[in-house]
Amino acid sequence: MNRKPIFAANWKMNKGPSETEDFAKGFLPNVEHKTFPCDIVIAPPFVSLAKASEMFGNVSSVALAVQNCSQFDAGAYTGEISGLMLKEFFVHYVILGHSERRAIYGETDEFINAKVLKARELNLRPIFCIGETLEEREGGKLEEVLRRQVSVGLAGLEEKGLGDTVIAYEPVWAIGTGVTASAAQAQEAHAFVRSLIAEQFGADAAAKVRIQYGGSVKPGNAAELMACPDIDGALIGGAALEPSSFLGIIENGTA
Ligand code: PEP
Repeated sequence: MNRKPIFAANWKMNKGPSETEDFAKGFLPNVEHKTFPCDIVIAPPFVSLAKASEMFGNVSSVALAVQNCSQFDAGAYTGEISGLMLKEFFVHYVILGHSERRAIYGETDEFINAKVLKARELNLRPIFCIGETLEEREGGKLEEVLRRQVSVGLAGLEEKGLGDTVIAYEPVWAIGTGVTASAAQAQEAHAFVRSLIAEQFGADAAAKVRIQYGGSVKPGNAAELMACPDIDGALIGGAALEPSSFLGIIENGTA
């Protein structure tokens, strides 16, 4: 199955509008008027979306994402942003269930599921994050955790909705730590996640769904990780803050 890899920059709580403009000035000459064998996505903070859409809105090789969105459309939800509002900013993807939101903000699988379903209703493409902590891995709970995250987080999605959803497998112990899962560890987990998708949605859907790896991906390890048969791109934090390293990952990961 030929799946188009997807490389997504998760800027987290970094880069206001002026830093977004600086990044774009460095990144644009390398991506404008070019075609890539992969999708390239940038997820700035909400306050930088207007600047990001101004800079990238007309660049066909780059799509925008947000890092979270509400499960509701509008109303008395102080501090929240709805998917409906994001439509005005050329946003196509929404990162949901990132481990930082699960761990720091207490997001449960059920809560994330409500957001996934709302995103699909609004035709936004979820980048649905899953992954185990070190304690869970060392306690032999890897498969149990991934099974729960996938079955609850994606419950109620139709096959079409799944096709427009990207899964990001991100072992929590590898995020922002400089410790990357070995290619063998990542491939094993990705193959397992694909088998879970096959159980829940059928073999055809499983063969088509894109599963990104995330966790300390850098230009130097991208090629080895992306060579694994079940790894279809990367979700990148720290190394996507600089145009040159984000580009290095894209280039090495698609070479
Ligand atoms: C992430 O935030 O999803 C991530 C993978 O971060 P980093 O690349 O910095 O490990």
